[in-house]
Amino acid sequence: MAVQPKVFHDPALLRAEIRKAQAAGKHVGLVPTMGALHEGHLSLVEASQNECDVTVVTIFVNPTQFAPGEDFEKYPRTLDADLELLSQFDPVWVLVPEVEAMYPTGSSTVVQAPKVSLPLEGAFRPEHFDGVATIVLKLFQAAPADKAYFGQKDFQQVRVIQEMVRDLIVPIEIVRCPIVREADGLAMSSRNRYLSSEEREIALSISRSLTEAGQQIAAGQRDAAELVRTMEQTLVAAGISKLDYIAVADPTTLESVQTIDAQVVILVAARVGTTRLIDNMLFSPVDVP
Ligand code: AMP
Repeated sequence: MAVQPKVFHDPALLRAEIRKAQAAGKHVGLVPTMGALHEGHLSLVEASQNECDVTVVTIFVNPTQFAPGEDFEKYPRTLDADLELLSQFDPVWVLVPEVEAMYPTGSSTVVQAPKVSLPLEGAFRPEHFDGVATIVLKLFQAAPADKAYFGQKDFQQVRVIQEMVRDLIVPIEIVRCPIVREADGLAMSSRNRYLSSEEREIALSISRSLTEAGQQIAAGQRDAAELVRTMEQTLVAAGISKLDYIAVADPTTLESVQTIDAQVVILVAARVGTTRLIDNMLFSPVDVP
């Protein structure tokens, strides 16, 4: 039976409930989101449900991770539908804070995101990861869970959070969950709803180019620059409006590699029309010498 999730607006009340649950020996899992929930988000809730007794989902469109001119104002806000989707899980507690609760008037403290934030997304969205690190640390204070679940979809974000938690000695285990895709390969994203049907067709080239790169690695390609060249051709031919980056990188440092002699992550950020999409896949060379 579907149960309406328990909704909190006050972080202090949520924290008190979490402390109570933990005192009773329960494990608490946390899934931070910006709402407009889809199967990708729900896979994180499921992962938490499998490992924890209570799952806390936060829904907060964090203003500080958007630069002026990005889509903060038009970011989809679908709270009723989100709560409906979450009602299939029990027990789920949902934190929906006001901006004032997360950024009290006068607050000026920020987290400077670790070095791993600098390339890739950090190069194109310079303030983004400071905003992410700051809000995620605040959410960890509001919801002091035992584990927090993040999607591989935002690969660099997970690395940023992992480093932050290590550096600032935050007592929470970070779990990375696989990317959930549409049947045709498109990585699920709240921003996919901005795409027209023609744009959606073009957007498919992103996951296709990644899959093809994997096939080339499996066939013996070890030259990262070659892979990038081929992917670029695929994306441009498909009609991608602007390619921010294609990178073949070390999954830990996110520094670019030239030769594929260990596991790599290939990451893409591209604009389809005015919508900016990201995707990535991990690959291991099958015949590492
Ligand atoms: P967002 O609401 O975009 O901030 O995302 C909240 C969490 O859901 C982040 O940890 C994302 O990485 C994760 N997420 C978003 N899309 C997907 C997806 N397609 N598969 C798995 N996780 C996802």
